[in-house]
Amino acid sequence: MNDNAYNGASEAELGFLKEIVRMLPAGLTVQDAQGKLLLVNDVAAAQLGIDGSRPSPDLAQRREACERALRAGQPVTSEEALQDGAARQVLLTTHRPVQLAGRELLISASADITEQKNFEDQLFRSAYFDELTGLPSRRVIEHRANSLLGRDGGGERFALAFLDVDNFKHINDYYGHTVGDALLVELSKRLGRDLRDSDMLSRISGDEFLLLLSPIRSQEEVAEFMQSTLERLTAPFFIDNSEVFASTSVGVSLYPDHGRSFETLRQNADIAMYRIKNNGKGSAAFFDAGMEREALARMKIEQSLRLAILDKRFCCAFQSKVDIRTQAVMGIEALVRLRDDEGVIQAPGSFINLASELGLIDELTHLVLAEIVKSIDLINETFGAEATISINVAAKQAGNPEFMRNFAQALEDTGFPQRFMIEVTEDAFVAKNHFQTEILPMFRRLGVRISIDDFGTGYSSLSVLADITADEIKIDRSFITDIHKRPRSQGILRAIESLSEALGMTVIAEGLESHEELAYLQAATRIRYAQGYYFARPIFLEELKLATPASSESRGSVSARPTQQNRHGYSRASGYRR
Ligand code: C2E
Ligand code: MG
Ligand code: MG
Repeated sequence: MNDNAYNGASEAELGFLKEIVRMLPAGLTVQDAQGKLLLVNDVAAAQLGIDGSRPSPDLAQRREACERALRAGQPVTSEEALQDGAARQVLLTTHRPVQLAGRELLISASADITEQKNFEDQLFRSAYFDELTGLPSRRVIEHRANSLLGRDGGGERFALAFLDVDNFKHINDYYGHTVGDALLVELSKRLGRDLRDSDMLSRISGDEFLLLLSPIRSQEEVAEFMQSTLERLTAPFFIDNSEVFASTSVGVSLYPDHGRSFETLRQNADIAMYRIKNNGKGSAAFFDAGMEREALARMKIEQSLRLAILDKRFCCAFQSKVDIRTQAVMGIEALVRLRDDEGVIQAPGSFINLASELGLIDELTHLVLAEIVKSIDLINETFGAEATISINVAAKQAGNPEFMRNFAQALEDTGFPQRFMIEVTEDAFVAKNHFQTEILPMFRRLGVRISIDDFGTGYSSLSVLADITADEIKIDRSFITDIHKRPRSQGILRAIESLSEALGMTVIAEGLESHEELAYLQAATRIRYAQGYYFARPIFLEELKLATPASSESRGSVSARPTQQNRHGYSRASGYRR
């Protein structure tokens, strides 16, 4: 360093300044017009490898920047990447030309921005690539599709496939998230095999993938390709010592046939995929106009369902469970009904599954309970104060401890929890959740009883019954219809009957419609209870109230099929009161 530059400063002061420059926490160099380094502090020496701490980097880059800054006579800021084996160091350096003591010099200060740079890179990667599978993100495939669409929408034909892994949630619940993640990785590998450079596979969310095939010659070619892809997926995956089977449902849309924008094509592929999901899963379908109409209709129901929940446009019909010998009512079942936008009453078949899918079912169940509580006096007057009150709970709800805890609390809050019975299908017992071990005892403590609904239609076998602790078992209508003519159903009925008896469960025959069915039950079985149109249809309490303002004698005749009920002697004396 030229000491003349510091005329006036004492020796001590100068030494002090030199030390400070040397130890500055940023890299500092001073060069002359030829690029020769006149001053290099410790950090700069380490950065440039001049101190021998690592292989000396190519200084040409810096020299060039130096010349540029001198030529421009203005500061220049540049990023410098220094590679040391696998490690990378990134410096942000500002070069500033100065005139000092008649000399042209360049002062350069470098900050180490390696960490910040790595973080930026990581952000960049996560915006464009999926972390788990390494596949391009939705943004990338959208960009690619848009570039294929051409500015005037006149690009070449291509296919967009929407793939959704079937029952992925079950796989995750059953095997755990680690296996679920590993499955997605393996799956993406199998899906990606046989793709051309011009095709693109992308993971757009949890278990959803988009596949862009371009160019394509015909729909048949795409169908064939999808078929072979799906076949490849049917082989089991070996993950963490488990053999996991996973099928995938696929919907495909073609450009320009099924849409002229990425969003429309994606939506239509989704609609086609949805059709496959509802038709047995595990295969592929191309979009068509009929599907669009279906999707619109579904959206309409969805919309009205959300509105109905908001407006509390639900009501309950009550159907009695009857002692087939005395015709006395032993209990009632609350069956939810929806009053749609036009005031038409809809049965649950049209909306229960959707409500469950949309996450609205819990609210609906609470609405049912609220209506029961509101109408309890009328219920007691009509069916007797001893009649049990059954509420249906979907298997999905039954396995949800949070909902069930709230629901148990709500039942307790009624002040008469022991009047209630909850009806769940056998699936709730077989699923790997805590229903049987943790949730059931909670209800038992309150005195709430448990009924197995639609028995015989689920996945369980008779042997499962032995492990189930329930109070009542309802044999599904499919076994009861024409039972007197069907020896096979008769055999099944006998087996369920004796097993239930041994386990202390009350048996109820569901959907009893005819005198012949009743006669068979009475003559050939020990089944004592039944529920069905033969005895009573589900009825609305307010109808009952309106129709019988003064007299209670005619109560039993008010129903959807009054004459039939009267014909079978279903009157107040023999029926509604115990
Ligand atoms: P479920 O619990 O098995 O109820 C019996 C269904 O069979 C009712 O249909 C009832 O009206 C009908 N049914 C009764 N007797 C006869 C008969 O003799 N013949 C025929 N053909 N049908 C008969 P609904 O009211 O349409 O309810 C259908 C299903 O919807 C119920 O089956 C139940 O699984 C579900 N559901 C009803 N209300 C609720 C609710 O509040 N929550 C939940 N999660 N599900 C509900
Ligand atoms: Mg039921
Ligand atoms: Mg049932």
